[in-house]
Amino acid sequence: MELYIHIPFCVRKCTYCSFTSFPGCSQQEMERYLFAVLREAQLRKHEINEPLETVYIGGGTPSLIPAELFCSFLSELKTILDFSRVHEFTTEANPGTVTPAWLDTAVSQGINRISFGVQAFQDQILQTLGRIHRSCDVAASVKAARESGMENISLDLMFGIPGQKAEDWAETLHFALSLCPDHISAYGLIPEDGTPLSAQLDSGILELPDPDSERNMYDFCIRLLAENGFEQYEISNFSRPGYACRHNIGYWDQVPYLGLGLSAASMLRPASRPKGVFSIRTTNPDTLHEYYRLIHSPVFSVPEETISLAEARFETVMLSLRMTAGMNRKRFRDLHGAPPEAFYGDVLRRLASQGLLVLKDDSWLLTRRGMDIQNSILLEFMEDRA
Ligand code: SF4
Repeated sequence: MELYIHIPFCVRKCTYCSFTSFPGCSQQEMERYLFAVLREAQLRKHEINEPLETVYIGGGTPSLIPAELFCSFLSELKTILDFSRVHEFTTEANPGTVTPAWLDTAVSQGINRISFGVQAFQDQILQTLGRIHRSCDVAASVKAARESGMENISLDLMFGIPGQKAEDWAETLHFALSLCPDHISAYGLIPEDGTPLSAQLDSGILELPDPDSERNMYDFCIRLLAENGFEQYEISNFSRPGYACRHNIGYWDQVPYLGLGLSAASMLRPASRPKGVFSIRTTNPDTLHEYYRLIHSPVFSVPEETISLAEARFETVMLSLRMTAGMNRKRFRDLHGAPPEAFYGDVLRRLASQGLLVLKDDSWLLTRRGMDIQNSILLEFMEDRA
């Protein structure tokens, strides 16, 4: 089982950000929030019905929490939840905010993976995105993370940014590689409604690169990272062999997870769930006021969404085809009681005959052509849903 902890504090809001995070916050506010998360862990620990194997602290900017407070929070959390089987423990961090003391605390508390939100290596582009760091902060932060003993360092990069040219993206990738990370996530920018960036695009102040340029940036990334020993294991994720993010793979493999904190989502499979229900999904409130109200109730109760067996089967298709390892037939059978052909025989045969899907080593994989039109392929599965 997996655990996610949401830290909703940032120095300021990035222009493209639609995550639940608040700019500027006092230490007192952080203390109050972390105390609430510990209380939520107390109230919900009975929902963990399998050993925790991965933990992910995301945000927001977890590296904004002062080292001492971070240390006491994690120590306390480990007295509530059993971390003895956790083998991957990740924290997100912002390059402008990590200090050696914070990194030492993280490592001493068992955190062995750090994911830096780098995005780009051009200060002008970082400014467009509203990031607080500058390109020169990144190398120093990565070096400090290595020196602290962090085993797995991941860099988040972004392409398709207004004003970003192919040569900027190439420079970003080359610079990232020069820092010898173990893992790289490369996401195309998706302007979210309601963000300042989206408003600037709507008013014509900024312009996105055209779709062909964006596609070329993605193709270049796949090629360059492969040439440099990185394996692509998911649409946007690349790692050195053995360094794929197990927590994220868990999401795509539908491993149950508990999410603690503001707006955190959970997907649980309690033994007592009704017949015909695969899992139960909940999302925590996204306002501090409502969250604090809930954690002071005797029971932590949020609306539940039940996922039926048919919905879960489709999710298995949708999530596993994102990964280059594809949809493993045995895993599908273990989850759903029969191999994928029992539910999707027609569509699998049709897509295979069109060269969009291939069966290899007992897994159904999208071909390169299939990857390019993944959304329409998923629609076919949706229509064929048994
Ligand atoms: S650092 Fe991350 S969470 Fe915080 S505002 Fe920027 S994108 Fe959002």
